[in-house]
Amino acid sequence: MNPLYIIQKIKLLELGISYRWLIPLLITGIYSHAQQTEIVDFIRVEAQVKPIYSEKKVLGTATYTFQTLQRCDSIFLDAVDVNLLKVNSKKKISITSTNKKIWLVSNFIPYKTYTVSFSYDATPKQALYFTGDQIWTQGQGKYTSHWLPSLDDMNDKIEFDLSIVAPKDKIVIANGNLLNIIEKGNLKTWEFDMKKPMSSYLVAFAVGDFEKKELTSTSDIPIELYYNNLVSNKVESTYRYTTAIFDYLETEIGVPYPWQNYKQVPVHDFMYAGMENTTATFFSEAFVVDSIGFSDRNYVNINAHELAHQWFGNYITETEGTHHWLHEGFATYFALLAERQIFGDDYYYWKLFQSAEQLASISNEGKGESLLNPNSSSLTFYEKGAWALHILKEKVGEEIFKTAIKNYLEKYQFKNVTTDDFISEVEKVYGEKLTDFKSDWLQQSAFKTEQAYQSLMRSNFINEFFKISALRGTTLTNKILELEKALNFPNDFIGQEAVYQLDGEDLSQTIALYKMAFESNNLYVRQAIALSLISIPDELKVEYESLLKDDSYVTQETALGNLWVSFPEEKSKYLNAMDGVMGFQDKNIRQFWLFLALITEDYKPEKKSDQLSELRQYTSPKYGNAIREIALEYLGYLNLWDDAALFNLIDACQHHYWRFQKSSRVILANLIEDDSFRNRLILLGKELDTTSSNFLNKMLYK
Ligand SMILES: [Zn+2]
Repeated sequence: MNPLYIIQKIKLLELGISYRWLIPLLITGIYSHAQQTEIVDFIRVEAQVKPIYSEKKVLGTATYTFQTLQRCDSIFLDAVDVNLLKVNSKKKISITSTNKKIWLVSNFIPYKTYTVSFSYDATPKQALYFTGDQIWTQGQGKYTSHWLPSLDDMNDKIEFDLSIVAPKDKIVIANGNLLNIIEKGNLKTWEFDMKKPMSSYLVAFAVGDFEKKELTSTSDIPIELYYNNLVSNKVESTYRYTTAIFDYLETEIGVPYPWQNYKQVPVHDFMYAGMENTTATFFSEAFVVDSIGFSDRNYVNINAHELAHQWFGNYITETEGTHHWLHEGFATYFALLAERQIFGDDYYYWKLFQSAEQLASISNEGKGESLLNPNSSSLTFYEKGAWALHILKEKVGEEIFKTAIKNYLEKYQFKNVTTDDFISEVEKVYGEKLTDFKSDWLQQSAFKTEQAYQSLMRSNFINEFFKISALRGTTLTNKILELEKALNFPNDFIGQEAVYQLDGEDLSQTIALYKMAFESNNLYVRQAIALSLISIPDELKVEYESLLKDDSYVTQETALGNLWVSFPEEKSKYLNAMDGVMGFQDKNIRQFWLFLALITEDYKPEKKSDQLSELRQYTSPKYGNAIREIALEYLGYLNLWDDAALFNLIDACQHHYWRFQKSSRVILANLIEDDSFRNRLILLGKELDTTSSNFLNKMLYK
């Protein structure tokens, strides 16, 4: 620590409270040379957090145990817009707060253990979300310090023991073991215990109306699968293969699961697919699927990816963004290995091929990115990272790779790592330097396309696939026999490719091939027909109608639309056939059905107002953002807004999830251009709360 700074700070403190805002500015400058982790080690945080639903704020009490590592007089906790309420410190430690930090000031003696406690409140703008009847947190990229004073630096690993106070009828999930539930009046305090330290971005809790299914891994780790009680029929399909994935990863990684237990929780309006909070993964409700939805969009990959992070990211953690692929590349790769166990080798190579195509195309445009560039895109960290590990394993061999992974995890457990730490562990077992691998796959920004394709060609399936896809430029007459062969007991991917090559060809030649594709009864080959054959020839009408019954909501929705357009005289028949089908969690089929029913004039005219009010109702905040987004889009096309739906639109424009917020703002901006709506919105603005009314005014008068 720079002595000059200490003198300045004491002088400033003496000048009184009005200068206090200057302190963090001064300190930020100094700390660019020395990170706080070199000065202090926070060991434990015990925090009790009580969310206040009505005000969307939290009340907290926290106790921090720490040791300073060198002589110093002030240390901080990150605490964004946190108000200190009551301070309790025995050892003459002064505790003050600025808008971003809480400062602990005293004459600290190295290696002595200190404890401080304080209570606080905060109204978090991010990192903690009140969504309908749920509350949940998201630390990564959003900073836990918005609701719990902690350290945003991932290099300080702390044992976090949370207690959450919630209404008596709610269920709470947080990191670690649930020790006690203490009931008092209308509230319950849920006390959790962690045994090991972690970075603060992995701290989490959720409150909601959950039920759970309990499993145990072969190694005896308790696994809890949470779900909303309204979707109990989807639990098996959503969490299918969970124990298999858990057991597989423990064996494949070769190091026992590092934590006490594991929980998975689907939350409302989640802005990512999943988040690997230590022992408590949260994920998007979009992956809550029934058996039909499972074949279109299942949780298996995310399930394995977030679980793999419990080792790669949580157990060992990057020192900084430069090494982000040590989290995402590893989680992506190990998830792919788990999927290979479940779905087979063809699936594994197909996914590698798909990502190679994306990486190669970006690289060919000169936009390739190095894995060690902290500003690279997700595609690089996730997919190129997984590719680097695939290539590395091929190079050094399976056995050496596995030994190195095990050594690496054991050596750096509960610590922070760099890419060199990993590579040197592999080099130690391999007995040779990995200089070329490092420069080709980690440092170089261009994707090694040729090397990737050589590796893919080890798969017979990929070879067969390439033979068929190479026929794209060939005339139908010259490839008809090959396509026929591909559609006879087809492989999922090769069969799809064959169907796509029929698109736009002369129907008199392709009808027989389409019939073969229908008769294959392969779900994905039939889905390819729905997605590519938009105007349906009479000769295929009967077969096409059978798609409405396929076990895929993507196929059903697409087929309904294409049949409705191709055979206008039978619109009612198709609507009757699909009445009551909901589809995915976002009700894709039901909402599409409502839209079609509303624009089919002669279809049940007496039910039109019911249909419209059902569609409008789906714009309400009591539904998830995915449902609302579709409803708002259809209402926009139909231009059938009532006041309630307009209020819901304005609410959606201020949603925490930026994608949903953005699509809603586009709809609102379009409405404002229409004078009659503009005037209506001006009137409605008078009934809004201040925040919403300010927002609307900004949109109206920009
Ligand atoms: Zn990840």
